[in-house]
Amino acid sequence: MPETNETAQPETLVSVRDLSLDFDTLSGPLHALRNVTLALPKGRITGLVGESGCGKSTLAYSLIGLLPGNASIVGGEIAMDGLDLAHLRASEWRKLRGTRIAMIFQDPMTSLNPVTTVGQQMLDIQYRDRSSRAEKRAKAVEFLEQVQIPDPESKLDVYPHQLSGGMRQRVCIAMALLTQPDLLIADEPTTALDATLEMQIVDLLKELQGKFGCSVLFVSHHLGTVAELCDDVAVMYAGEVVERGTARQIFHDPAHPYTQALFECDPGRIREATRELPTIPGTLPDLRRPPRGCAFRARCPHAWPRCADEHPPLYLRDEGHDARCHLLDETEAVA
Ligand code: SF4
Repeated sequence: MPETNETAQPETLVSVRDLSLDFDTLSGPLHALRNVTLALPKGRITGLVGESGCGKSTLAYSLIGLLPGNASIVGGEIAMDGLDLAHLRASEWRKLRGTRIAMIFQDPMTSLNPVTTVGQQMLDIQYRDRSSRAEKRAKAVEFLEQVQIPDPESKLDVYPHQLSGGMRQRVCIAMALLTQPDLLIADEPTTALDATLEMQIVDLLKELQGKFGCSVLFVSHHLGTVAELCDDVAVMYAGEVVERGTARQIFHDPAHPYTQALFECDPGRIREATRELPTIPGTLPDLRRPPRGCAFRARCPHAWPRCADEHPPLYLRDEGHDARCHLLDETEAVA
């Protein structure tokens, strides 16, 4: 786990405040994000964890303006340097995307164009740059070197299918960093890779973040990877952030029963031989009709009547660490 300064308050790059987002479905609006509040500090890596369907990717895509047509932001804001990203026009997004905010997607094979060479794709994304073709090509080689691709010059002339999965993801990382963004969003960038390649990519991301100093939002359901890479962690459940803190606080002192349950199910933490991997009983609630009280109530071993009636606020657990659970009620509510 990275060494972090637990007390100093880093400057914020992006501040998500009370963000709510609905998907329009045939059976009515699905409340995919519900009053999400999260700060992405400058120069740090924030991990976003939770089960599939809890809203991690929706939040990530809302930070880069790549939401599907049936999504609407129905409340809140995403503040970045005086801009509200939640309400930008398409033309304003085009100026930000690929300059100040970049993204690495889950599957490099589907995020690269299969019928265009790696080099051409790396030249194309420099379309705003007025330098010569030779200069852009040299920059592409430089960034392929940064991501430790051997013989980078020759790799400019190959097609994505001629590279291994790990090499393709390195190309995607090089392309995302080429414009030196302030915020790099990585949406499960290691899910399509095997365990060895996963660690290589995680080490590379860590090294490059240190070199370029950008903020990173790292979306993952792999807790071991998050512990290895991230400075801060936010845990999402049913479209809400239910716990926030530094990686050290979340991994050493998880306060929310959902976070605790996630850790109990993490194969990396199971110490005794077992034929069955543990799971969290039950399923996510139907977000077309979110429950009135705590969204985790039906699956929580500590639930009591108050949890059904009252929606828990974020209670302060420790400085910089809070969780949305009534068990922490003796502490101060922060939101
Ligand atoms: Fe469990 Fe109640 Fe806490 Fe929700 S508020 S996580 S149901 S104890």
